Amino acid sequence: MNAHHTDLIAAIATAPGRGGIGVVRVSGPDLTTLRTRLFAQPLRPRHAHFLPFLRDDGSTIDEGIVLSFPGPHSYTGEDVLELQGHGGPAVLRQVLERCLEAGRDLGLRLAEPGEFTRRAFLNDRLDLAQAEAVADLIEASSDAAARGAMASLSGAFSTQVDALAGDIVGLRTLVEATLDFPEEEIDFLEKYQARGTLQQLRETLQTIIAQTRQGVILREGLRVVLAGQPNVGKSSLLNALAGFEAAIVTPIAGTTRDKVEQQIHIDGVPLHIVDTAGLRDTEDTVERIGIARSWQEIEKADVVLHLRDIRSVMELTDGSAQNTDAAAARSHVNEPGASDLPRGSHLPAMGESPILEPDIAARVPAGTPVLTVYNKLDLLPGGTDTLACAAQPSPNGRRDAGEILCISAATGQGLDTLRQTLLRLAGWNASMESPWLARERHMQALLRASEHLEMAWAHAQMDDRVLDLFAEELRLAHEALGEITGVFSSDDLLGEIFSSFCIGK
Ligand code: GDP
Ligand code: ZN
Repeated sequence: MNAHHTDLIAAIATAPGRGGIGVVRVSGPDLTTLRTRLFAQPLRPRHAHFLPFLRDDGSTIDEGIVLSFPGPHSYTGEDVLELQGHGGPAVLRQVLERCLEAGRDLGLRLAEPGEFTRRAFLNDRLDLAQAEAVADLIEASSDAAARGAMASLSGAFSTQVDALAGDIVGLRTLVEATLDFPEEEIDFLEKYQARGTLQQLRETLQTIIAQTRQGVILREGLRVVLAGQPNVGKSSLLNALAGFEAAIVTPIAGTTRDKVEQQIHIDGVPLHIVDTAGLRDTEDTVERIGIARSWQEIEKADVVLHLRDIRSVMELTDGSAQNTDAAAARSHVNEPGASDLPRGSHLPAMGESPILEPDIAARVPAGTPVLTVYNKLDLLPGGTDTLACAAQPSPNGRRDAGEILCISAATGQGLDTLRQTLLRLAGWNASMESPWLARERHMQALLRASEHLEMAWAHAQMDDRVLDLFAEELRLAHEALGEITGVFSSDDLLGEIFSSFCIGK
């Protein structure tokens, strides 16, 4: 076991607050002494004992289940003791204090966040990606994310990465053996079918990257910016999309006046929706901070949803209006808040180029998809035919300006299509089941591995003696993959990862 992690740690492992039961957990290389001090009778490994938890003076704090897991067959790989009592804050605090007191001269101290799992990693009970999955499983807010985290935790992701890393090492071993016999170098690539092998490795890596990208989306979510004039129905749309999940809609802390950002789920994929209604000039310091943060979100947007009032366009096409300004003004005239609409509104005339609000348009990076959505379909005279609506030319007369959808936030018409279109445009591949949950850190490591495999590939295309360069790229690719599972990891990285865990995990 690891020589420099020999102290004893303890923590309350259950969530703060009150619950049916609460658990205090202790881990250390040898808990024999502590066990005998806390409990009069010997504890059978991995058996439930119903026992009183006693104070030093013999009085009872609580009674409950005690479990002893001698190392290495425990979560941390060390001796672990679990005390399961009633889940109240005062009870658990006393049980914890009793443990700390009984173990003080043994060096027992309070555990840091994630320290149990860190020990599990250092004792090879879990690799780094699995350890991260422990935290991700606890944090998962949708069934899909939880399922993905569980897959990562059980090693689905690590197994793929390890297998690929192993194959890269295999190829590199061959290359390096050849390097010792320079006369064989020239036909090495043919002799061992190195190109074919490398080609397979590249394909495998690209598959893993595509799957991991899905896993990252499932964990981090997608960013959607909701742009549009006042009164087009942004808030209504957001509420409709949130649907029965409205209970978990969460405003960004700090802005009370406007919910600038909300989180919803579509098919278990978290979407962070930034409502540009909150983006306005203000003297309020708190609100300003929220607004600055929203602008940053927009720059990171995966898709921009531009919402418009369908009447502003349809009136045009039946010849009843000569310009969109007039149509827009009329369409808002009977609605509360319509006076917010600036005179000579920003809605452009037909044939003009895209119609995003100027500030927002300036901040949408090139390449970010824009989805134009016409709302209030239910108000169209003569019916609610989405197909007819979709057949309308886009406002600037171009088909390539982005996709167009027609909906009614009020009746829910078109929302299913909108949900799927949003996910697709933002980069979610609904036909590819996401086999594991992943982090941006993993994605970066995979992309670095890919760069090195591509360099190796380039070397393999030359007939020159570049086998040493070829081997070096394979080594670097292998190293990048090793960062995912923690074969190569720095204390800084471990600190960063485990400090975001809860205490007691
Ligand atoms: P926002 O200012 O863009 O957030 O717009 P709101 O969501 O506050 O909606 C403005 C007005 O339009 C409200 O009176 C809504 O009830 C109405 N509204 C929004 N969506 C629809 C829709 O699909 N159909 C109809 N008939 N009214 C809608
Ligand atoms: Zn609104």
